[in-house]
Amino acid sequence: MNEFDLIARYFSFAPRDPAVVLGSGDDAAIIELAPDDLLVVASDMLVAGRHFPEPCNPAHLAARALRVNLSDLAAMAATPRWFTLAISLPEADPEWLEGFSQGLLRECAYWQLDLIGGDTTRGSLTISIQMMGTVNRDCPAIRRSGAQPGDHVMVTGSLGDAAGWIGQGQFEPSTEQDYLYRRFWFPEPRLNFARAAQPWISAACDISDGLLADLQHICKASGIGARVQADRVPLSPALCEAAGTDARALALGGGDDYELCLAVPAQHLDEIQALAQQLEIPLTSIGQFEAGDQVLCLDERGQQLKVSRGYQHFP
Ligand code: ADP
Ligand code: MG
Repeated sequence: MNEFDLIARYFSFAPRDPAVVLGSGDDAAIIELAPDDLLVVASDMLVAGRHFPEPCNPAHLAARALRVNLSDLAAMAATPRWFTLAISLPEADPEWLEGFSQGLLRECAYWQLDLIGGDTTRGSLTISIQMMGTVNRDCPAIRRSGAQPGDHVMVTGSLGDAAGWIGQGQFEPSTEQDYLYRRFWFPEPRLNFARAAQPWISAACDISDGLLADLQHICKASGIGARVQADRVPLSPALCEAAGTDARALALGGGDDYELCLAVPAQHLDEIQALAQQLEIPLTSIGQFEAGDQVLCLDERGQQLKVSRGYQHFP
């Protein structure tokens, strides 16, 4: 039983309140507060030693904890507004807490967010954030379920960078200027882009578990399959240098990048590319959705690649 089977079996309760427009199963839930007034809620937990190496820079940890949650709201084309912070700490170390707090405050100012509550306990270092935002009629939510056969599979940014940094196993905070370090600790939630591109996107998911795993989520929710050209998956020069021939596998299977995987109908390719250029966000078509239920990954000769399907907590 993997984590998704586990969630489906034990925690996917059918909502009883009709105000729950979208419950468990997408990047975030949607609750209708009033007609055309919708709340979007996502929650992501970071456990030391599992989601991030420890020791680490507490200010950078605060940034990552917020940004991975913002990324789920970006995948819905929502505007994030408030969050709660549940934190479990082995000890109350003022120096650590000062760093974490300052980092969090900086991010709140940058992303225009309010910390409105939470919970604090003693335990192993774990950060759990619940992010809340809004969508409305002018910019409705994007779901995982809207992809159609023929839509392009598109991804923002470059993939595999965060997994590449983890793979290097050099966790000193002194590497702050390092590109891969920044890609891991400061992922870039594509909030503005997703909201502006929403009219041209038929489905979206953020890439947290790995491209092929998250693409699978869109396929499953949309009831279709997809075909990806491995050689079209965007790689950064830094990743190629650090990981060499492993770069491609990291980009396909490694998680943690928090870029977006999108379904875009062919007739909107030019519009969405123009927008991406204007916002200076790399946007790449890496394949197409198709009828069926398989996610195929092909090399340049059309041979099917066997690659790991991303990170699973309960494989
Ligand atoms: P994401 O990576 O986008 O945050 P996850 O893979 O963590 O999504 O979760 C998949 C879906 O399952 C999400 O809709 C999430 O809200 C839901 N989910 C995860 N854990 C639980 C849980 N313990 N109870 C209810 N729903 C859950
Ligand atoms: Mg997500």
